[in-house]
Amino acid sequence: MAEQPFDDRDGWIWLDGRMVPWRDAKLHVLTHGLHYASSVFEGERAYGGVIFKSAEHSRRLKASARILDFEIPWTVDEIGAAKAEALKRNDLADAYVRPVAWRGSEIMGVGAAKSASHLAIAAWPWASYFDPAARMRGVRLDMAEYRRPDPATAPALAKAGGLYMICTLSRHRAERRGFADALMLDWRGRVAECTAANVFFVKDGALHTPIADCFLSGITRATVIDLARARGVTVVERRILPEELADFSECFLTGTAAEVTPVSAIGEVAYAPGAATAAIMDAYAAATGPRRAAA
Ligand code: PMP
Repeated sequence: MAEQPFDDRDGWIWLDGRMVPWRDAKLHVLTHGLHYASSVFEGERAYGGVIFKSAEHSRRLKASARILDFEIPWTVDEIGAAKAEALKRNDLADAYVRPVAWRGSEIMGVGAAKSASHLAIAAWPWASYFDPAARMRGVRLDMAEYRRPDPATAPALAKAGGLYMICTLSRHRAERRGFADALMLDWRGRVAECTAANVFFVKDGALHTPIADCFLSGITRATVIDLARARGVTVVERRILPEELADFSECFLTGTAAEVTPVSAIGEVAYAPGAATAAIMDAYAAATGPRRAAA
């Protein structure tokens, strides 16, 4: 059965400072964000009613807007309170939270410095994928055709809607070819990230991950690095070339939605998700909520 469309659901959406009925949270077709991609967003998860790393996400949202030359007129604390209100009003405990900010419809043209900025926050139920046995089978990745752009070509470090064009195209192509997702290289031909997650590799017990200098520096990525180091695991952030993929024993993805997801293959290269990945999955589950760790 098809999923209920996202514009036709019950509930409430926080829109520019007030709660509006879900179906009434609408935009005009002549909105700058739609025509010129002046939009930034976040993807967050609440576990047991509490958003994991909420302030980090709010800070990144505001930073992304600034990179796109607009200001979100709410503080990190105010955005935090708005997210909490969206969860409460919709009676949600385990949920995905989607703040999105964009330039409005005052000016239709490339230059729109005086347009108003808007912020909306929606939340909907999304239980965490928590069947470790099934999960350990891992996902298969294709190699993406598109590459992450040079920061001199696009505002690469913002979580900006416009940067997701190449992610959607890469994801569609991977799915058509029978893969779950695609691994993207950067403009220099180095391993970068997936279409909505960062990537880690395991070699001799150490974790290796690309330097986030031209792609999204994930909040889950930072959490996993901290968790691994706290457990005495060496984490190496470095340039990783596609020729090296066969040298690693395990591979996993990190992201708010993906959490820690084992990878079983990248193209022709196979991985056996193992103890190093399982340890990180456990540590992340414990960090996101003692309730889940005990489940
Ligand atoms: N890269 C991309 C392109 C993403 O969309 C995401 C998901 N937000 C990530 C990485 C992971 O970021 P985070 O851990 O902050 O969710």
